[in-house]
Amino acid sequence: MKEIVCKLLVIGAGPGGYVCAIRAGQLGIDTVIVEESKPGGTCLNVGCIPSKALIHAAEEFAVVRRMAAGRSPIGIRVGDAAIDLAKTIGWKDGIVGRLTSGVSTLLHKANVKIVHGRAAFRDGKTVEVETETGAQIIRADTVVIATGSEPVDLASLPFGGRVISSTEALSLKDLPEKLVVVGGGYIGLELGTAFAKMGSEVTVVEAMPQILPQYDADLVRPVLRKLGELGIHVLTGAKAKGLSGDGNALFVEAADSQEQQLPADRILVTVGRKPKTAGSGLEELDLDRSGPYLRIDERCRTSMRGIYAIGDVTGEPMLAHRAMAQGEMVAEIVAGRKRAWDKRCIPAVCFTDPEIVTAGLSPGEARAQGYEIRVGQFPFSANGRAMTMHSDEGFVRVVARADTNLVLGLQAVGAGVSELSATFAHAMEMGARLEDIAGTIHAHPTRSEAIQEAALKALGHALHI
Ligand code: FAD
Repeated sequence: MKEIVCKLLVIGAGPGGYVCAIRAGQLGIDTVIVEESKPGGTCLNVGCIPSKALIHAAEEFAVVRRMAAGRSPIGIRVGDAAIDLAKTIGWKDGIVGRLTSGVSTLLHKANVKIVHGRAAFRDGKTVEVETETGAQIIRADTVVIATGSEPVDLASLPFGGRVISSTEALSLKDLPEKLVVVGGGYIGLELGTAFAKMGSEVTVVEAMPQILPQYDADLVRPVLRKLGELGIHVLTGAKAKGLSGDGNALFVEAADSQEQQLPADRILVTVGRKPKTAGSGLEELDLDRSGPYLRIDERCRTSMRGIYAIGDVTGEPMLAHRAMAQGEMVAEIVAGRKRAWDKRCIPAVCFTDPEIVTAGLSPGEARAQGYEIRVGQFPFSANGRAMTMHSDEGFVRVVARADTNLVLGLQAVGAGVSELSATFAHAMEMGARLEDIAGTIHAHPTRSEAIQEAALKALGHALHI
């Protein structure tokens, strides 16, 4: 059996693993990365990137369709609108191809050795990889587990046939006439909205009393309103029970305990994701877990010396930029640098319509942690740029300590607010005070002026409201 000996072995080439390997290679660490599928992981292949491509295509189509129907509020008229889903998916696949081959190029450039196949632990320092040319043993001083996550199905709705996960939804060649989305979290709503804009009749079934249950109700309200405008039917407090005998409909127990039958060509189940650990020999290593996830400390160390874990396999928040930040940090720690990170600074974006972005604490969370706070909120209806873009719904909110004005958190809902995430994260990272944001000159006319105004409002002297 062939054997490789290296300093650092990274298992999984998603955003966590590939960033870790690239940084380690840049730092001169002899690094091997093992990937059983395509480089780029969930994010580039079946997650962030393909979903945003589809969301963009759906939005473009929805705008043109409005124009074709003579409903353009800004006075533009066009002829008939049509969408060729197979071509849209082909365009999306092209983007994925460009980005994933870019990851391979970057790994080669950083002198990282790539091994294709599934890695399974033999002991804490050794894995066996089943490659196309036979089994290979890799021994390393340090191992990083970056095996990511996979969709969870429901016992009553196993994946297969009409019941699909986000992975299949991103590659459908035909538009489902009737789509039922089970799970009103961000993945289900992003995809459900995209399909509704492309012409599907969409119903969302959510077991909790509110869609996007982790967000404050005022951030979710504009999204709910838009779902209504798009004709998306939302059932909250409702449980999916299983398929009808002929498989053409979904039985749902509604909030009033009444059973409903929802006809569906496709049932998209987006009820969560679980760590991908099966088949990689992790059970035998007996690493400490936090629920199903690998337990890590603030430096991403597991309970076994020399083994780190990063990204989705370590639990929430399951976000690509968190995995990347952890990957970069671990590479530097392995190189002997002192590094830690502050998870309060991770922004989270929901690419719904309108978008939601948050960083740090909401007002409720800040109060629950015992802070006396001041809150400034500024509506996009008073922002000139938002008006000129005909999307003035939503607001920006800043939460700060009442005694020192230290910013504890920022939230926004509105068109395109994902682009405010860097400013939010920057404010958290630098330990900004309200005066830092209020005193920064923001270009006019931009949506970002709403952040400055929210900070001014918290200080008691907003200028444009
Ligand atoms: P992954 O990306 O899952 O990569 C893990 C890799 O390890 C995979 O390539 C897998 O094949 C490989 N692997 C697993 N086991 C083995 C083994 N034993 N041997 C070899 N290789 C192995 N996040 C955002 O931040 N923004 C978004 O907009 C966003 N949108 C999303 C949309 C959808 C539809 C989905 C599903 C997810 C989205 N996410 C988003 C989440 C994001 O994709 C994940 O948080 C991110 O990919 C996690 O990175 P990771 O490196 O931990 O794991």
